[in-house]
Amino acid sequence: VQIITGGAATTPSGRRTATFSGDVWGDSVLPETDDVLINNVFFAPGARTYWHSHDRGQILIVTAGVGAVWDRDGRGGRIATGDVVFIPPGSEHWHGACSDRFMAHTAISLGGHEWLEKVAEDDYLAGAGPA
Ligand code: MN
Repeated sequence: VQIITGGAATTPSGRRTATFSGDVWGDSVLPETDDVLINNVFFAPGARTYWHSHDRGQILIVTAGVGAVWDRDGRGGRIATGDVVFIPPGSEHWHGACSDRFMAHTAISLGGHEWLEKVAEDDYLAGAGPA
C-alpha cells in the first residue's frame, strides 16, 4: 500500500514544453509504468497540448478551471471542474485551458502515445476561446 497524501506528486513538478503550447506543468501521480501514466497537469490560460493520440485511450478528470477537448472530427467541447472525458484508443485530439481561464486535470493515459503537430491558433481559438 502506498498512500499519496492529497494526490501529491512523488517527484518535483515539471515544466512541459516540447509537445505543448503555453505554460504547462505536470506532476506524475504514480511511479511510471510501461502501460499506465497518471499525471496531474496544470494549463495556464491559452495553454494546450499538441495534437496527439493514445494507443489504448485516455481518461481526463477536470479538477479545476475551464478548458476544452476536441478531436479531428469536431467532437468535443468545453470542460470544467468535475467533468470526466474518455478519449478512445487512437483518436487524434488535443486538450487544454480556455484562452482566458486556467484548467487543471488528472490524466490517466493507457498504453503508448503519439505526438503530432501543434494546434493552429485559429483552431485553438475556435474551440477554446474566451469562456
Ligand atoms: Mn490526450
